[in-house]
Amino acid sequence: MIYLDNAATTKVFECAAQAAETAMLTEYFNPNATYKSAVNVNNGIERARSIIANAAGVQSDELIFTSCATESNNWVFNCGIKNHKGNIVISAGEHSSVYEVAMQLKSRGKDVRVAPLTRDGAVDVDALLNLVDTNTALVSVIHVSNETGVVNPIKQITAAIRQKSPKTLIHSDGVQGFIKLNTPISGLDVDYYSASAHKIGAPKGIGLLYMRHGLNIAPYIAGGGQEHGLRSGTQNTPYIAAFAAAVQECSKYDHTQAAVLRDELCDYFSNHGFNIIGKKANSGYILCLCAPKYKAEILQNIVHDKGVIIGKGAACSGSKRGNRVLSAMGLSGDEIERCIRLSFFVNTTRDDAMSAAKTIVDACNI
Ligand code: PLP
Repeated sequence: MIYLDNAATTKVFECAAQAAETAMLTEYFNPNATYKSAVNVNNGIERARSIIANAAGVQSDELIFTSCATESNNWVFNCGIKNHKGNIVISAGEHSSVYEVAMQLKSRGKDVRVAPLTRDGAVDVDALLNLVDTNTALVSVIHVSNETGVVNPIKQITAAIRQKSPKTLIHSDGVQGFIKLNTPISGLDVDYYSASAHKIGAPKGIGLLYMRHGLNIAPYIAGGGQEHGLRSGTQNTPYIAAFAAAVQECSKYDHTQAAVLRDELCDYFSNHGFNIIGKKANSGYILCLCAPKYKAEILQNIVHDKGVIIGKGAACSGSKRGNRVLSAMGLSGDEIERCIRLSFFVNTTRDDAMSAAKTIVDACNI
């Protein structure tokens, strides 16, 4: 089986699974208890936080563990905005965990503005800046599109917003870029950044929210005051340990190689009648293609039977089909139906990717 749906989730690294197992079977004490064994577990959480913070180029106390990036994104929109009367600006390329929470706020009367995408799949920066004014409370722009892999120029966007409206808070959903893009969060000059462990070789069900020092976000989940009073609920120590192990493992790889393989695949698919969707700066780990024949779901099933797993749109959008982003890029309904998504990880070999590409092309030439 060749697995090319890593933007949906990744296989857990052996070291991450082992770290979780140790935490479950040996170091299983409640980190908030006061006896020595529990204090050791609590120290383990802080060690994990510091490993992740180091790799992300931020301070440990700027990272709060959450249950997933969906929670992190919802937290920012529901509790992280100081100027409650101000407007919110998001891009049309947001994942549903940002888009839907923004729409919830809109339905409650909030002024929510949506910046368009260019045909290339990046946010239209000029249009975004036109929507921002001194009354903008929050801007949220996805770092790497989960649909196309297109990388938005967050640093450039942040600098322009800070000039136009210094009090505006800036969030970026970094799920598809975290660690894999080699960009320290600190270099982006954002106030909030969300990440999810299961995109980098750790289990599903653990994420984080970066919040810049000095920000005063209210807790989203109230209770026992864990995570420095910001996120209650007994910490998921096995998955926190796995998250840190995965970050360490993932940081060992040269992520620039992904772009080399993606370029090769782009050439191959273009030569066989596929359209590449989202040609701008790309993370290298995601390739969105419009197939010449077959709806994505049919093609997905044909190649599945030949041992190749590919994605179509956003798998994590559950029951809702993730075509909002592709249609914001100007693709027609017919094109969207034929869009497949191949996504890679550090364990994807060139041989496997090329062999899968051949299977996909052959399936279209039946
Ligand atoms: N944001 C992006 C860009 C994603 O790709 C995903 C999941 O695929 C999420 C948010 C949600 O992450 P989680 O599964 O941790 O809630």
